[in-house]
Amino acid sequence: MLNLDTARVPRWMYVAGIAASLVTWAAPRPARDPRVAIRIDCHADSPSCALASPFALDIWSEEQGPDVPLELVVRESSLTSLTAAHIDYQVTVANIDAVAEAEAQRLRQLDGSGDFFADYRDYAAITEHLHQLAALAPDRVTVQPIGVSLEGRPIWALKIGHGATKILINGTQHAREWISTMVNTSIADRLVRNYATDPAIQKFVDTTTLWVVPVVNPDGYQYTWGTDRYWRKNRRDRHGTDLNRNWAVAWGGAGASKQKGSDTYRGEYAFSEPETQALRDLAMRERFSLHLDFHAFSQLILYPWGWTAKPAADRDRFAGVGDKMASAMFAQHQINYRLMQSVELYPAAGTMEDWMYGEVGALSYTIELRPKSGLRSGFVLPPAQIKPTSDEGFAALLALRSAAK
Ligand SMILES: [Zn+2]
Repeated sequence: MLNLDTARVPRWMYVAGIAASLVTWAAPRPARDPRVAIRIDCHADSPSCALASPFALDIWSEEQGPDVPLELVVRESSLTSLTAAHIDYQVTVANIDAVAEAEAQRLRQLDGSGDFFADYRDYAAITEHLHQLAALAPDRVTVQPIGVSLEGRPIWALKIGHGATKILINGTQHAREWISTMVNTSIADRLVRNYATDPAIQKFVDTTTLWVVPVVNPDGYQYTWGTDRYWRKNRRDRHGTDLNRNWAVAWGGAGASKQKGSDTYRGEYAFSEPETQALRDLAMRERFSLHLDFHAFSQLILYPWGWTAKPAADRDRFAGVGDKMASAMFAQHQINYRLMQSVELYPAAGTMEDWMYGEVGALSYTIELRPKSGLRSGFVLPPAQIKPTSDEGFAALLALRSAAK
């Protein structure tokens, strides 16, 4: 999911000469000036979206362009200024912090028993679940830490199978994208529990070594559970680093910020963060041939490059395999996931997807999960959607595996 910074202003805004000085992320303020999510219909002949940008605390829409609605977060007090500037906006979430608080209250009342995938789970619960899965099938499943976060939390990985094809999937580089945590864990759960009864799963596990890292950013993830539901980065010196701008391919290029307060802050240097180091070391050692990095939201399948408009040498293969993934995902619940080269969405330098392809040679995709737009929920996706979204993530993995034989 994207966030903002002057470097992330949509290119069409630059073209129009209206790159604004955007406000960077700030911690939640008291409820007297709540954060509001709004949507503006952008048209090439209307300046509304460009005029609204200076008021943005955060951009929620993943896809941006002259005819795509722009979803922003602003202070309630800014709405008067938007109206005064004749900007036509629609309030989509009247108080995003109230939504987060209601969600936090609901989650506090969960007793943790019952169906694990009926609701969101915190770092401790995910960790325990991974250990339970490993205990169910110790001959083919192991759990191990691949590193330790800044605040000392292990970054857990589940390794499933001993086959020749090496695949990595991971989630939660961005803390607030909770559905990515659940989809990774659900994929692992299905592969472990259904091995004996599902021949397709048995074949997958027997021919694959799959590493699953559901929570790449445990500190940020816990921070979203306890303090700010909309936090994105890790917890480096409290300002945080955007882990998905901290990778070494084109580090520091377009769509990554030098400003520590920015939500796309790239870090002091490439791989400055223990969380990206952990995944880097695992990937260098295992030399994965296939990779999925799960994010939220917008329902997209993205492939390299993100840092340049230049097509990847394997562009046709990326597009062909990506098409099969999109079809397999659609077949689950008739939900569309749009396929494109990352840079078409917006330029982003220093991403995991570009590094996994550029340095490891993996066929690497970023999948932006549900919802399609921030209307009503944004990052706070209703828990009833965990299972169907996991069906889509699982279908994407199986399609990737078989298409890339
Ligand atoms: Zn993300």
